[in-house]
Amino acid sequence: MIDFSMTEEQQALQEMAREFAEKEMRPNAARCDREEEFPVDIMKKAFDAGFLTSTIPAEYGGGGLGDLDMVILSEELAWGCAGMYTSMMANSLALTPIFLFGNEEQKKRFLTPFSQKMTFASYCLTEREAGSDTSLIKTTARKSGSEYVINGSKCFITNAGVADLLLVFANAAPEKGPRGISAFVVPRNTPGVSIGKVEDKMGHRASNTAEIFLEDVHVPVENRLGREGHGFLAAMKTFDRTRPAVGAAGVGVARAALEYAVAYSKTRVQFGKPIAAFQNTAFRIAQMAMEVDAARLLVWHAAWLIENGKPSGKESAMAKCFASDTAMKVTVEALQIFGGYGYMKDYPVEKLVRDAKLLQIYEGTNEIQRLVISREVIGPIIP
Ligand SMILES: Cc1cc2nc3c(=O)[nH]c(=O)nc-3n(C[C@H](O)[C@H](O)[C@H](O)COP(=O)(O)OP(=O)(O)OC[C@H]3O[C@@H](n4cnc5c(N)ncnc54)[C@H](O)[C@@H]3O)c2cc1C
Repeated sequence: MIDFSMTEEQQALQEMAREFAEKEMRPNAARCDREEEFPVDIMKKAFDAGFLTSTIPAEYGGGGLGDLDMVILSEELAWGCAGMYTSMMANSLALTPIFLFGNEEQKKRFLTPFSQKMTFASYCLTEREAGSDTSLIKTTARKSGSEYVINGSKCFITNAGVADLLLVFANAAPEKGPRGISAFVVPRNTPGVSIGKVEDKMGHRASNTAEIFLEDVHVPVENRLGREGHGFLAAMKTFDRTRPAVGAAGVGVARAALEYAVAYSKTRVQFGKPIAAFQNTAFRIAQMAMEVDAARLLVWHAAWLIENGKPSGKESAMAKCFASDTAMKVTVEALQIFGGYGYMKDYPVEKLVRDAKLLQIYEGTNEIQRLVISREVIGPIIP
């Protein structure tokens, strides 16, 4: 059966998120971008609205949203401001391994505090020498009695400067390669954890991105998620689950660009007519609208597969890759429709171009998504 209709709850969620994006995020987006400001007040309101805890299961005090709910929410929030959205959704990225792979005691201990006060988390996988190839992480976790001692560093970590909880991937048995990697929950205030350089970014400037250093950081064995050596698989399974939301952010950014382009093309007059009356502009807009809708369908399909417990690795990668490529293409097209004004910071479109770019890079670059997709489509190659 095919059904594209939203439930009443989903419509209400979409309306609430759209209103939040329009009233709270949009009016502050340009300032936060310009001043690289992490907007604490807006985050507090987002917490009150449940957007920072949306994926936490209801029994641990979260919103318990499903995967389709999450892509509906993500599109609206990224439409408001992709940088603020990244800060909000980094929480769900970091907490996903806990509710997927944590035991009951860990879920209660680590997830419940997030519903009680505004709290941020970071997903700490990437290292200087291990970006796309995260199997090569050098951070180690040496077992010592009932503890692990973690040493290493992480880079480009979203929310690092504001997080209270770090989800750290470290190798407890480096001789086993990726099979030695485990996931650990590390409270930010554990001695030995420090924050390094805060990155000065091209886009998503309302989000905080920084380095993290871990020097002789002691964590109890009870903070390891799942079995020792299960961490690499946990990292990949987490991405399968969260990538459709990155795709949805791409749809939100692209939709924002399309809407700005449509409005501008009807008011900008050249050669005696609004530029929307030129077929070149109108067909460009038609193409942009088709691509936004196609991207949303891939995103919704991937989310539907996940929600229904079906295999979804390839489709999650397709959703993330296609929708973020669409965001890049559509924002560049919108800028072209704005002409010289589009290039100026007084207008909103150049920010969207900068924001779209990151969606092609984080949670696995789009080249890595194409690797995932092509491996599954082609299957084994026997020469
Ligand atoms: C703003 C920002 C926020 C981020 N937030 C987080 C976070 O919260 N947590 C976290 O752990 N990480 C985070 N990241 C890291 C991000 O996931 C990595 O930057 C990304 O995975 C790419 O790694 P890299 O930058 O080292 O690039 P590299 O791996 O060095 O890649 C360089 C280029 O080579 C290409 N390439 C690499 N391997 C292949 C291949 N096999 N085939 C074809 N092409 C290939 C890549 O696609 C890319 O174009 C963030 C990054 C940024 C920029």
